[in-house]
Amino acid sequence: MSVPVTTGVQPLHIREELRMRDDSSKPVSNFIKHIIDEDIKNGKNDGRIHTRFPPEPNGYLHIGHAKSICLNFGIAVDYSGLCNLRFDDTNPDREELKYVAAITEDVHWLGFSWENREYYASDYFEQLYGYAIELIKKGRAYVCDLNSDEIRQHRGTLTEAGQESPYRNRPADENLDIFMRMRAGEFEDGARTLRAKIDMSSGNINMRDPVIYRIQRSTHHRTGDQWCIYPMYDYAHCISDSIEKITHSLCTLEFEDHRPLYDWFLDEIGVFHPQQIEFARLNLSYTVMSKRKLLQLVNGGHVKGWDDPRMPTIAGLRRRGYTPESIRIFCDRIGVAKADSTVDMALLEYCVREDLNKRAPRIMTVLHPLKIVILNYPHDTIEELDAVNNPEDESAGTRKVPFSREIYIERDDFMEDPPKKFFRLAPGREIRLRYAYFITCEKAVKNDRGEIVELHCTYDPATRGGDAPDGRKVKATLHWVSAEKFIQTEVRLYSHLFTEAEPDSRKDGTEFRDYLNPESLEVLTDCYAEPSLSSSKPGEHFQFERLGYFCVDPESSPERPVLNRTVTLRDTWAKIKNKN
Ligand code: ATP
Ligand code: MG
Repeated sequence: MSVPVTTGVQPLHIREELRMRDDSSKPVSNFIKHIIDEDIKNGKNDGRIHTRFPPEPNGYLHIGHAKSICLNFGIAVDYSGLCNLRFDDTNPDREELKYVAAITEDVHWLGFSWENREYYASDYFEQLYGYAIELIKKGRAYVCDLNSDEIRQHRGTLTEAGQESPYRNRPADENLDIFMRMRAGEFEDGARTLRAKIDMSSGNINMRDPVIYRIQRSTHHRTGDQWCIYPMYDYAHCISDSIEKITHSLCTLEFEDHRPLYDWFLDEIGVFHPQQIEFARLNLSYTVMSKRKLLQLVNGGHVKGWDDPRMPTIAGLRRRGYTPESIRIFCDRIGVAKADSTVDMALLEYCVREDLNKRAPRIMTVLHPLKIVILNYPHDTIEELDAVNNPEDESAGTRKVPFSREIYIERDDFMEDPPKKFFRLAPGREIRLRYAYFITCEKAVKNDRGEIVELHCTYDPATRGGDAPDGRKVKATLHWVSAEKFIQTEVRLYSHLFTEAEPDSRKDGTEFRDYLNPESLEVLTDCYAEPSLSSSKPGEHFQFERLGYFCVDPESSPERPVLNRTVTLRDTWAKIKNKN
């Protein structure tokens, strides 16, 4: 059996990464792996492990789906099994080809491959229809003429049994005849349904003669107008799993009550029977995690699209600067359990910070520029100073950073009248410019309105590179950019999309959109970066010293780089004493 190959990242890397959880060297286990271990021990399915990831192409994937993807594909990697990508496309009204494309791109980007095993529930429409005919012949399904409201009224409640449909005992040959005519398009949309004949008094409402086919004239993104009846999810899903010989069908907890139905269909039809196992869905603080709600944000113009860097979608996270590795590590860290819980967004941020710390080259960029004129520095001179690209990675080497008489620093790195704990620049005070010199502030120059427009400073030529030969210390090291050689840059800063940690499922009558954060996006159009940024490509990562990790946006151009802040830094090195 072949191990799925991954794009870009080899399975071995993923496996090693999965072992990296905290400091334990063991692969991470969970209750699903325990079940699988048992199954393998008992020789179930001849030790074969086959999972699937079954998205409905009705929106972009979000970080919750990433949990399911990492779980399903991760298990296939860990057990040398297989994992299929299957589109659960039984709702033509909401599904679109563009979502199929986005989903495939995102799963690939996360580092997983399904080789040629890309399947669609719609590929099985004919087979599903055939099994429905079998159920009818066995007296296990009937055509019902009740409309959807009537079916609901007959369904009963959690405490009351349902009522049987007056059509429940229609003879099999009549059911067969009408069902075929349903397929042939003889009846109006919604006029009839095919229902499983199970038990209207079951304690589990899902077992009260659920609908398995509905009449719906919708053009399907794959089958076009070939069908005017479509199977329901519960019916299509278990049979699709069975057709693909899935051994372990992993789904989220809300399907627990559907499991008896999953089992019922497969037992009645008498086909290969995968085991459904439920796990808790991922909830993340300060965001919502449902394609339906995310679509509302897109359609309502609350964000700029599915890939808006504030969105919890894979595409949004990618544009924001998240790496596949950081998302896989996150999914591993949160683990897989049976109980619902909400994970703190801070954990996701921690994971990307940790990853980018290793790989992102450092550069200096000033977001809120304040000009400094170094009075004793020669006019018309530009020095090229050496700067370390990544102190975490020696192989990243060094680069040259231009230094000149006029430079920019961050506006809030200067205070005219600093409080006690402010160690950065102030009148009369000496600080270090990273990789450059010690400078001392002589004077703050103001305009008519009393606003500071520039600082006049002096430098000590003996401190070139950032160290004083006489050993004197400074309390702050600031980043800066030459005012002679820089590139003007647009920088987009993001905060949580919502002001509440749990904007969803509230009991006070408000809804998630009431908690949208009006300050979730701040655009700074006049930032100054080291000139080297002009050769950056969309998707490239940087650490802007002291400011965070940033990623080049697709709207970026060499003339005008545009960068998204992925995440802030945990701490600044403003207080660092040594020069690197
Ligand atoms: P949504 O409500 O966001 O549309 P869904 O469950 O309807 O989610 P599907 O496309 O049907 O979306 O999901 C594909 C797979 O991803 C399913 O197996 C589903 O259980 C899983 N999944 C969806 N959301 C989450 C989540 N938040 N955490 C873990 N798994 C999830
Ligand atoms: Mg769904």
